[in-house]
Amino acid sequence: MRIADLISGDGQFLSLEFFPPKDRKDWPGFFQVVERFRSINPLFVSVTYGAGGSTQDHTLDIVLRLKREYDLVPMAHLTCVGASCKGISDFLDTLVEAGIDNILALRGDPPKDQEIVLPESRDFAFASDLVSFIRKLHPHMGIGVACYPEGHQEARDPETDLGFLKFKLDQGGDFAVTQLFFDNEYYWDFMRRARSIGITKPIVPGIMPVFNLKVVQKVISLCGACIPEPFMRELELAQANGGSEAVQELGIEHARKQVQELLDNGVPGVHLYTLNKDEACLDLVSRLRFSNRPESVQGGSLRV
Ligand SMILES: Cc1cc2nc3c(=O)[nH]c(=O)nc-3n(C[C@H](O)[C@H](O)[C@H](O)COP(=O)(O)OP(=O)(O)OC[C@H]3O[C@@H](n4cnc5c(N)ncnc54)[C@H](O)[C@@H]3O)c2cc1C
Repeated sequence: MRIADLISGDGQFLSLEFFPPKDRKDWPGFFQVVERFRSINPLFVSVTYGAGGSTQDHTLDIVLRLKREYDLVPMAHLTCVGASCKGISDFLDTLVEAGIDNILALRGDPPKDQEIVLPESRDFAFASDLVSFIRKLHPHMGIGVACYPEGHQEARDPETDLGFLKFKLDQGGDFAVTQLFFDNEYYWDFMRRARSIGITKPIVPGIMPVFNLKVVQKVISLCGACIPEPFMRELELAQANGGSEAVQELGIEHARKQVQELLDNGVPGVHLYTLNKDEACLDLVSRLRFSNRPESVQGGSLRV
């Protein structure tokens, strides 16, 4: 089933992002994490895709297992930068054969250590090319796309970036998932601007709790999101006084407040960047209130 159809149901949902462990010997542990997350019945789970590398096969293998063995609705991330039409269509065929209906269509980033190749020399220049390629080959496929409440790092300006988001949705994207952000005002402002240019499709907020100061600093340096000054000061203080445990506690509480405020203000659902951290994320989820949701998270669905 296409995720856009699942999203349009009543009630608010939670979905999860996982990354495939590089080393296959870590997979049994990863699937134990998945098993624990299954208890909260996510609407769908997405699996990241390393642009240009062996972890691409891992994405495919993992989404197949998530569907077959764990009865989850998986969404495979897929990047197109540097990829060939043949490689992409093989990937899509494997998904379709396995009954996987959803894909997150991304451009990806060219590897930093290689010369930048002009888009014209590639089969795909932007995510919108991938969206229209998938739509043409597999008209029934569910397609999500990425968007950036704080603007994409390479964008000329936020309005142009938003125009390109509209374009990729018009090419056949069903919905968008946002880049992580730590201040909900970015999301609300983005939503106002998106609606004002005629974007009507769902835009699901993506939230990443801070689990570790160094990791989050690396993540934001790569994706261009910013941590509000006061929150950063609190995190640094927590690191100095209580170490990584205190940082994680603060990070989870900040994410809980963010998610709750989004839910209370009527978002359809939230996509949680789990970094495969089950214990901390399940603790966060257990403290959330969803509207129109069943009495208990335990064993029940987060949406009704
Ligand atoms: C939810 C989410 C999940 C992600 N998952 C992964 C993952 O699994 N693996 C991974 O490698 N990366 C992932 N990324 C990162 C993503 O690949 C990078 O942010 C990448 O730089 C842009 O991808 P995009 O699909 O948004 O690109 P695009 O939509 O193509 O946009 C890229 C840039 O080009 C501009 N642009 C778009 N169309 C045009 C046009 N026609 N002409 C000129 N400029 C244009 C945009 O404004 C933007 O600045 C994810 C990002 C998000 C938000």
